[in-house]
Amino acid sequence: MSTSILNADLHCHSVVSDGTLTPEALAARAHANGVELWALTDHDEVGGQQRAAAAAKAHGMKYLTGTEISVTFAGQTVHIVGLGFDAEDARIVEGLRRTRGGRSERAQEMSEGLAKVGIRGAYEGALKYVGNPELISRTHFARFMVETGVCQDTSEVFRHYLTEGKPGFVPHRWAALKDAVQWITDCQGVAVIAHPGRYNFTANEEYALFTEFKAHGGQGVEVVTGSHTPPEYVKYADMAREFNLVASRGSDFHSPDESRIDLGTLPWLPGQLTPVWELLAHRIQ
Ligand code: AMP
Ligand code: MN
Ligand code: MN
Ligand code: MN
Repeated sequence: MSTSILNADLHCHSVVSDGTLTPEALAARAHANGVELWALTDHDEVGGQQRAAAAAKAHGMKYLTGTEISVTFAGQTVHIVGLGFDAEDARIVEGLRRTRGGRSERAQEMSEGLAKVGIRGAYEGALKYVGNPELISRTHFARFMVETGVCQDTSEVFRHYLTEGKPGFVPHRWAALKDAVQWITDCQGVAVIAHPGRYNFTANEEYALFTEFKAHGGQGVEVVTGSHTPPEYVKYADMAREFNLVASRGSDFHSPDESRIDLGTLPWLPGQLTPVWELLAHRIQ
């Protein structure tokens, strides 16, 4: 299907969540890199959607609304991308507001955990990097700890301090899978499993994720993402066909200094998959 050859980038983050660029700067960068269809997908937020849509329009770039919802499934955090929904609909706005709740308390606890291993003032330090006070995330802690020389780069901070079992990790209960999918679909959008290759699920758990996601009305999966290796493109293309899901493509770009994959630079979606933008043609702005 020839529409798979489209420079669509349907996953990235601005200062409204844990990216370092404004929605306007991201739009300019996407356009400069040849992106034809773009979506800003801030974590648990739609606060940047109007700015992103307006900036896309100014560049003559097509736009889909987006967000990336944090979900707890089988004891792990899973991300569900929503695309093409009505970002003003109170059902998703309220659902996301509830999902953001608790981030501040979690951040304070993370800071206490880090203080126990000698890293002081991490909460205040992380706050300096936060663009949206409701959205303090592990990424902001990682930036602070690189700045203060605790680690060389953010991925080292995650490895040593911010993942399960490490001193700055605080387990957190996010949205239910069913709710996240419903907020998106109730508001005319399409729900997409983000970067499935990144989770540490057993084959059975992964099968359960795809099965339950479908049962709740989810329709898509990211196949080509900055988080996948080429063999994972093939694996998740097969899964998309097995579960009859449409396929998405997105860099997951966060920052020029941190992200390996720039906006609009990933390989094309493999042929013989239905791109998510075919389902969302009527929602493109
Ligand atoms: P949070 O929502 O506060 O749990 O933060 C999750 C964010 O941390 C993700 O969206 C990524 O941007 C970032 N992240 C997670 N794991 C890593 C990692 N291993 N290296 C760098 N960034 C990561
Ligand atoms: Mn992130
Ligand atoms: Mn994610
Ligand atoms: Mn992301």
